Amino acid sequence: MPQKNNPVKLDGTLLAEKLTEAAKNEVEKLRKKNIVPHLEVILVGNDPASRIYVNNKTKACDKTGIFHNTNLLPENVSNEELLKFIQELNSKKEVNGILVQLPLPPQIKKDKIIDAIDPIKDVDGLHPYNMGLLMAGRQQWNPCTPGGILSIFKEHSIPLEGKNCVIIGRSDIVGKPLSLLLMQQNATVTICHSKTKNIPELLKKADIVCAAIGKAAFVKPDFIEQNTIIIDVGVNRISEEKLVDEIFGKEAPQKETFQKRGSCLCGDVHPQAYTKSSYYTPVPGGVGPMTIATLINNTITAAKVQKNSQ
Ligand code: NAP
Repeated sequence: MPQKNNPVKLDGTLLAEKLTEAAKNEVEKLRKKNIVPHLEVILVGNDPASRIYVNNKTKACDKTGIFHNTNLLPENVSNEELLKFIQELNSKKEVNGILVQLPLPPQIKKDKIIDAIDPIKDVDGLHPYNMGLLMAGRQQWNPCTPGGILSIFKEHSIPLEGKNCVIIGRSDIVGKPLSLLLMQQNATVTICHSKTKNIPELLKKADIVCAAIGKAAFVKPDFIEQNTIIIDVGVNRISEEKLVDEIFGKEAPQKETFQKRGSCLCGDVHPQAYTKSSYYTPVPGGVGPMTIATLINNTITAAKVQKNSQ
């Protein structure tokens, strides 16, 4: 008989609210010293999901008192125009953070754009200079999503030292930087990707599984052992009723969402796998809000670092 679990939901929304409140107090203190953290967001085109992400980020700025400005650029903006715009923001002393919402349209060379951001204003932590600092264990702030995950572990006093962490996905935004942060915490890290053989076998040996691949319910319940800690980074929109029924069941709240909106969200981990875990992050409401909370903290840190280097 499998052991009955009582998995703890790692509520990212709640923790993000707590961190936002602390950030608000911090911004108030800074404002008294005439330091106003200032974030410039660049959104290219009309991708509806990107608009929602940007809205959520700017709402969090409003809650904390961070000054922000969203720059909407047309879908057909050229590489040169975008580079020039970033240079302008780089040169403005009052701008502490520059965030270019990804993905970018195909005519834009994403790497060149990220490289153009002044590393001291790169609050997403994606510039190669900041990635290098992270590799050396000398980062001034953490990339947003992995940093948010680390804060979840810290909040719940989940020890990482000596733990066997298996990450699925090796993107520059999630998998790679997360592996470095976990190593900094003395975890033993395995990274899987699309060419990795026997992923279920590797997952079964994990104390902690972090899934960031962008494939709905990829991690099946039989891939993991009882009491594994699950960090589900994936955000996948499902718009096929049969799939909703298969993954969540006909009575699940997700089915209701699907009926109202024509789609619902699903993580990279099958919901039945959560029931075998000791802790898990839900989708939505797990890692997502923590990504934004980390962006807020990074912007505040960037403002302080820039003030100190004047
Ligand atoms: P990405 O850049 O597309 O990278 C996906 C990674 O998954 C790649 O390394 C890829 O391997 C690997 N992969 C794909 N299919 C696989 C398979 N069948 N088996 C094993 N590995 C596989 O994605 P990302 O930007 O990291 O995002 C991943 C997911 O996280 C998405 O659902 C995204 O929406 C979500 N996300 C959420 C947040 C948040 O704040 N909640 C933030 C960022 C991303 P290869 O390298 O071999 O191609």
